[in-house]
Amino acid sequence: MAASVPEGGVCIFCDIVARRAPGHILYEDDTSLAFLDIFPFTRGHLLVIPKRHVDRITDLPETEYAPFLHALAVLCRRVDRLSTHYNVALNQGALAGQIVFHLHFHVIPRYGNANPFGVSPRERLSDEAARSIVADLAEAP
Ligand code: 5GP
Ligand code: ZN
Repeated sequence: MAASVPEGGVCIFCDIVARRAPGHILYEDDTSLAFLDIFPFTRGHLLVIPKRHVDRITDLPETEYAPFLHALAVLCRRVDRLSTHYNVALNQGALAGQIVFHLHFHVIPRYGNANPFGVSPRERLSDEAARSIVADLAEAP
């Protein structure tokens, strides 16, 4: 399914869906896409999105709940390879920290951080680190 164009213009996640922008893609099916977050909190921090552009969970058609949750669960199972401790997070609205207004769940592996919801320093994901993580999280052979 093609991503719809967001109201009012450009959306970086729609561009990743359409391959107009680069992304370290981990998973794709007819309706969902998952890729590495470019400013990861931890190694393996990834995002799961519906391909269709919607701003918020409440805008997602109910018929897409099941496939979207399926994609999220597939990625959670892969993240179990890195750590069985992770946060699944959804920021809704600017005051909740949403900066990209295309619905996305974060999956953030935890490796012993004392305060998972505390502010952590973040550095831009390097291509070298991304290649190694993509290999760890690739579809099982
Ligand atoms: P939000 O705060 O909206 O819940 O999270 C948006 C996430 O998207 C942030 O963690 C940010 O690092 C990530 N992000 C922003 N722009 C890009 C991009 O161009 N590519 C990728 N892979 N991630 C992005
Ligand atoms: Zn979009």
